[in-house]
Amino acid sequence: MRITNLNPETDIGASAWHVNLEGHGLLMDSGMHPKREGRAGLPVFKTIADQEVDAIAVSHCHHDHVGSLPVALRHFPKAHVLLPEQSYFIIERVLHNSVNVMTRQRDELGIKEYPLYTHDEVDEIAPVFQGFRYNREIEWASFAKTRAGFSSPTLEFFDAGHTLGSAGILLRGRKETLFYTGDVCFHDQTILRAARFEDVKADVLIMETTRGNRATPKGFTREREIERLTAAIQRALKRKGSVLIPSFALGRTQEILALLALLMREGRLKEQPIYIGGLGRVFTEIYDLEAHRTHRQHTGMQLHEEHNLIVLDPGQVEKMKLSGRIFVLTSGMMSENTAAHDLAVRMMEDPRQSIFFVGYADPETPGGRLKASKPGETFVFSPGIGRVTHRCDVQDFDLTAHANRDDLLDFVGQVSPRAVLLGHGDDSARHWFEDQIRTRHPKIKIIQPQPGKTVEV
Ligand SMILES: [Zn+2]
Ligand SMILES: [Zn+2]
Repeated sequence: MRITNLNPETDIGASAWHVNLEGHGLLMDSGMHPKREGRAGLPVFKTIADQEVDAIAVSHCHHDHVGSLPVALRHFPKAHVLLPEQSYFIIERVLHNSVNVMTRQRDELGIKEYPLYTHDEVDEIAPVFQGFRYNREIEWASFAKTRAGFSSPTLEFFDAGHTLGSAGILLRGRKETLFYTGDVCFHDQTILRAARFEDVKADVLIMETTRGNRATPKGFTREREIERLTAAIQRALKRKGSVLIPSFALGRTQEILALLALLMREGRLKEQPIYIGGLGRVFTEIYDLEAHRTHRQHTGMQLHEEHNLIVLDPGQVEKMKLSGRIFVLTSGMMSENTAAHDLAVRMMEDPRQSIFFVGYADPETPGGRLKASKPGETFVFSPGIGRVTHRCDVQDFDLTAHANRDDLLDFVGQVSPRAVLLGHGDDSARHWFEDQIRTRHPKIKIIQPQPGKTVEV
């Protein structure tokens, strides 16, 4: 089979993989690079311009995996889009939100190419989305080809435990198989249970490496991390300050809401409203609606009933009183023109206020720069705001929705592939995996495919 890495950059970047399996073309994910501006953030579609794409399979609805889907469909208008059924309810919301964000960036940052697609275009492509259950074999090749005597490859979604509707994808051809992890979590989170990849074996493995450069500290447990966060929130509220937890709207927000609900049930946190964003509310509703069809904990927990959720209107963040409130707001990396960014600016220089990170923030984003700053330090937060002084309480809690590197390494052993392709990670993360796999499994071929490069495996 032939595999092309379409990520325009060598970092986590935009996920998009083209696979040619026995004459059939499949695109897995079509993300957008979160740090590159304009068209430079798109996958390098031109390198597969002469290839066919019968179908596009989506691992999950984070922006770095689906953000360029409407553009991909312009290149491959005949492709169907296959996704896990829960993602089917999410994807259009994500894409419409992208149009809004890009439009705002055009107006405020002057990026003329934005938006790269329109609301109308998102509406027009909606009919090609098809939702499927996990662990069903789906035929995805074009009908014309299979009728002409070609084989009929299948794909199957495996629950990846990363966000609602997240999946690893197993491709089966007549002779060969491939497994793509997407973003995967091998431990239980507060709502979602761990990935169910137990039966997966494949000839070729494409694997995420997000946490390859992060060792698990001795004695670390998720429970202890939650205890530490709980104590920090209690202290913050006691001194009449507010708490901001910057979170992605899909996944992270609902995990934090569930955690806060449990703390309130146990009486460890006083019942009080939680302020969230509009998109966070929409996905919270979908988490509630899909509760009975999700492999999760606390299946009876409806986040809307547990909490008094208040949706912040744009601009409201500038005026609110900041005493004793809890905010769970996008974006997780505090990108400019988001509620989390604007609220952080207000909180930053007030020692009573607290900002608690619970997920990954790229070092080159406002959130990443705040995380890296020391108390009392003056630093450039974002181009729009410029320099600020870090005087509030900033802490980082490791409640990741990505697999720890040792679990991923064990997974390589389980899948026992002929070749493994390393993606979705920084250089140092991919190199750690390369070294470890070479030592543990000397027979496995290890490939770090460069942007736009095709490899034959
Ligand atoms: Zn993700
Ligand atoms: Zn990702």
